[in-house]
Amino acid sequence: MVGDTDVTTDQRHAAALLELAEADLAIARLSKELDDLPVKTELLRLKRTEKELEALQQKASTLIASIEREVKRLEDELAQIDDKISVMRARADAVAAADHKELANLMKEVDSLVRHKSKKEDELVEAMERSEKAAAKRAEIDAAIQQARAKESALADRYRAEGGEIQRRIAEQQAKREALAASLDPALLARYEAVKAAKHGIGVGRFENGRCSVCHIDLPADRVQALESSGPIGECPNCHRILVVSVDR
Ligand SMILES: [Zn+2]
Repeated sequence: MVGDTDVTTDQRHAAALLELAEADLAIARLSKELDDLPVKTELLRLKRTEKELEALQQKASTLIASIEREVKRLEDELAQIDDKISVMRARADAVAAADHKELANLMKEVDSLVRHKSKKEDELVEAMERSEKAAAKRAEIDAAIQQARAKESALADRYRAEGGEIQRRIAEQQAKREALAASLDPALLARYEAVKAAKHGIGVGRFENGRCSVCHIDLPADRVQALESSGPIGECPNCHRILVVSVDR
């Protein structure tokens, strides 16, 4: 025999269970809304762009450093060639009057050094041009990164503003669901959580017009009768969700 008190308790649990399921659905919907905020997608896309730009910046810096080493090497080589030319010219001055053949040899060597110097100077000019181009490219990348970071900061502000309101509503629903969960019979709560986890987040249906409000499958008359006489909380014979048969809300 079921007493009046038990019926009332069952009714109260059934009502709380429905409200709990509503809170859970609201939380799922709001969480999705938060995930789907266009500003979030924009923010993620911008962060990817920033990563790509940072990689380009790294590449440009490596290239500039390597060209700088090349410039330094060419400058050292040119200084050495200048030294050699000075030495050769000093020698030429010393032998000038005495030995025509030696003088001719020395002048030939000086000519060859001057040609070599000219070639190295061309290389240096070319390396410096490359260095300038690379530096301009890096300046462009630096500017793009700065621009992206400023935009990211503005988007983050927008996300905090738009997402903050949704997060506040999620917290509200979570507080509500915690109070409802605490009011439920622990066994019923555990059953609900298990069914919800197994059934894509929807653990409870209402029994309306001979059907479960979730799966909408027409039930045979004997099943309908069995549910109607089973008390406020049953199980859908089709989708096996908890079925709230009747409730005074
Ligand atoms: Zn069902």
